[in-house]
Amino acid sequence: MTDTSDSNSRKLLRRLRDAMASDEAGQARLDKITHLIADSMGTEVCSVYLFRDDETLELCATEGLDPDSVHKTRMRLGEGLVGRVAKAGKIINTPNAPAEKGFRFMPETGEERFSSFLGIPVQRVGEKLGVLVVQSRDARVYSADDIYALEVVAMVVAEMTELGAFIGEGAALSALHQQSVLLRGTTGQEGTAEGHVWLHEPRVVVTNPIADDPERETERLKDAVEQLRVGVDKMLEMSLTGDKEQLQVLETYRMFANSKGWMRRMEEDISRGLSAEAAVEKEQSQARARMEQVSDAYLRERLADLDDLSNRMLRILTGQGADTGADMPTDPILIARNIGPGELLGYGRSLRGIVLEEGSVGSHAAIVARALAIPLVVHGGRITTEALNGDHIMVDGDQGMVHLRPDDTVVTALRDKIAMQAKAQERYASIRDAPTVSLDGQVLSLHMNAGLMADLPSLEGSGAEGVGLFRTELQFLVRNQMPKRSELVALYSRVLDAAKGKAVVFRTLDIGSDKVLPYMKPNDEPNPALGWRAIRVGLDKPGMMRMQLQALIRAANGRPLSIMFPFIAQSEEYRAAHAVLEKNIALEERLGHRMPSSLEVGAMLETPSLAFAPQKFFDDVGFLSIGGNDLKQFFFAADRENERVRRRYDTLNVSFLSLIERIVERCAVSETPLSFCGEDAGRPVEALCLAAIGLRSLSMRPASIGPVKSLLLRSDLGAVRKIIADARHRGDQSVRPAVMDWLRAQS
Ligand code: PEP
Ligand code: MG
Repeated sequence: MTDTSDSNSRKLLRRLRDAMASDEAGQARLDKITHLIADSMGTEVCSVYLFRDDETLELCATEGLDPDSVHKTRMRLGEGLVGRVAKAGKIINTPNAPAEKGFRFMPETGEERFSSFLGIPVQRVGEKLGVLVVQSRDARVYSADDIYALEVVAMVVAEMTELGAFIGEGAALSALHQQSVLLRGTTGQEGTAEGHVWLHEPRVVVTNPIADDPERETERLKDAVEQLRVGVDKMLEMSLTGDKEQLQVLETYRMFANSKGWMRRMEEDISRGLSAEAAVEKEQSQARARMEQVSDAYLRERLADLDDLSNRMLRILTGQGADTGADMPTDPILIARNIGPGELLGYGRSLRGIVLEEGSVGSHAAIVARALAIPLVVHGGRITTEALNGDHIMVDGDQGMVHLRPDDTVVTALRDKIAMQAKAQERYASIRDAPTVSLDGQVLSLHMNAGLMADLPSLEGSGAEGVGLFRTELQFLVRNQMPKRSELVALYSRVLDAAKGKAVVFRTLDIGSDKVLPYMKPNDEPNPALGWRAIRVGLDKPGMMRMQLQALIRAANGRPLSIMFPFIAQSEEYRAAHAVLEKNIALEERLGHRMPSSLEVGAMLETPSLAFAPQKFFDDVGFLSIGGNDLKQFFFAADRENERVRRRYDTLNVSFLSLIERIVERCAVSETPLSFCGEDAGRPVEALCLAAIGLRSLSMRPASIGPVKSLLLRSDLGAVRKIIADARHRGDQSVRPAVMDWLRAQS
C-alpha cells in the first residue's frame, strides 16, 4: 500500500462524508456515492445493492448501468454474482464476469458490456446489508489495493445504511430496523406478551465512520487497546488462582490485544480514512463473516473471543458502556444472546417477556423464567441484531414466535389471544379451591415450585396445596456474596410465614452445573452437569450445608419442617446427608433453639441409579421426589441445555415412563410418599400420563396448576392407563400420539 493510495482513499471518504452531510434525500445521496466511487476508482460502473428483505437484493443506485433498472433489478440471495457475494459474505474479483460460475445476465441493466467485476459484501457485525460492486469494460484485475479501498468504502456504506442515511423520498427503501420481522424460535415458557425491547447488552452505534486525522485516530486506537490490555492483565492477576478455562479465555484476549496483525490492519483502515471505531468494527465484521464459514470448533471459539474483544473496544472508544443511561421501558421484553439464572433474577418480575438468541429450554435461566411466569422464547434467530431498544415487540411463547415491530393485523390477533388467555385464567380461578379428583375418583395433590420470596403470594392464587420444591439456591444466585446464616434464618422464616401453615419442602443447595454462584470460584470441569454439584458439594464442603440446615431449623422455630436433599445418586449419600442433619439438630437443641414440631426428610431422585437402590433405601427415606429434568437428561444421555439433543427424546417415551412406573411400584412397596417436581409435571398432557401411571403428587410452576387441574378433573385415569398400556403393547416409541388422539376424541 502506498501513501498515494492512502491519501486517495482518504479523499474519497471525505467526499463521501460531504455527500452524506448534504440535505439531499436518501436516493440522491446514494446516487452521488456511486458516482464518487466510480470516479475515484476509475471504473465505468459502481452499483449498490441493498437487501429488500431477508432473501432479496435490490439495485438501489448505480453509476454506469441503465438508470431505469434502479429499484427494478432484483435478485435472490445466492443468485448471480451479486447474490453469491451476499450469501457467502465473500469478495468476488474477476476480469471476466460472464465466464464466472453463477453469472446471471440481467439485460435490463445493460451490464453485458462490462467484463471485470469486483463485488464486496456490505455488512455490519454479522448483519448482511448488501453488496457494493464496481465493473469495467476492460478485463481488469482489481489489485489488492483496490479491494482494500473498496472494503473501507463498503464499511462506510454499511454504517450509513445502518444510520438510515439512504432513507427518504424516492429511495423506495425502507429503513433498517423499521420493518416488521417474524422470528421463529422454541418455546421456553408459554404465554403471550406485548411490550418494548430492552437489550441486555445494547448495540454500539458508530456515528462517525469517517475521520480526518489519522494520527489522532491511531492514538485513540492505541489508547483503547492499552486500556483493554490493562483491564485484561488485571483480570488475569485476579484469577491467578482461577480455573484453567477462564485463564485460557483471558490469554486469548491478551493474545489478540497484543496481536500485531490485528493492530496493523486497524491502523491501515485508519490511514485509509476510517475512524478508530469504524476500523475496529470493520475487522470485527470480517471476523464474524469468517466465523460463519469455519467449522473448526477451536477456531470458531477464538473468533468469538475476538468478537467479544471488539465489543469491549467499541465500548471503550464510543463511551457506550453496558449502561447507556437509557431508561428501561415500563413493559420491558428482555433481549439477550444468552443469560444466566443469576442475571435474570436480577431483573426480577419487571420483565414482560424474554427472547434469547441462544439459550435453552432446560437451562436454569428458563426455569427462572418459568418460575416467574414470564413468556420465554429461546433460539430466537437474529433477534439481538434486529432489535433496537424501545422497539415494539410481541412474544408468542406458545408458538415460540417473536413479532418484532409487528404490523396491525398481528397486533390485533395477539391481543385477542392475550385476552383469551386472561379468560382462561378466570376459568381456572373458578376451580382453584376444588379438590383434584379425576373422573374415576383418584385423588391427587398439586403443589407449586418456588425459590423466591416473590413466589409465595402465588400459593394462594394458584390453588397449590403447598410448595413441593423450594429451590433454595435461587436466593444464593441473586446475591453478590454468600448470605449469612442470620439472613437465611430471616428469609426461611418469612417463607414459612407466607405459606400460612401449608407445607414447604426446602431443597438444600443445588449448585454446580449451570448454577454457578458469582462469589464462588468456578470449577474447571469438563462436564459440569455430571460433575461436582448439589449434594456432592454439600457433603464435601459441609460448612455451607451445616449453615443452611441450622438456618432451616431455626426458621421453623417449632413449626413443621420438610427438607429434601438434591441429586442423590446412591443410598450412602442420603444416609451421610441425613447424619449431618441429625448432628445439627442435636447441636441446635443443645444451643437451646426450638425444635421443629415435625421433621420430614427426603431425597430427590434425579439419576437412574437411585431407582435401582436397595429396598432398604426406599424403606429408610422419608419421601422421594422425582427431579424429572435431570432424570430425563441422564436417562437419555441428552443434555437438558442442548436444544439439539434435548428435543429428540419425549418424556412420554415408553422407556422413560417404564422407569417412572418402576419407581412408583418400589415406593408403593415401602409406602414411601412420592412426588414429581420436574418441569413436565406442569405440562397438562405429561401430568395426565404421570397421574395415570400412579403418581399422586405433582409439583409445578404456579401458573400450570390451573391447566393441569382442569385436565385431570375431566379425565379418567384408568382409561389413560389403558391407552398407555396399549401403546406399549403395540411397540409405540412414545405414548403421546395415542394419548393425544384419545384426548381429541374426548373433546
Ligand atoms: C429436576 O432436575 O427435575 C429438578 C426439579 O431440579 P432442577 O431443575 O432445579 O435441577
Ligand atoms: Mg435437578
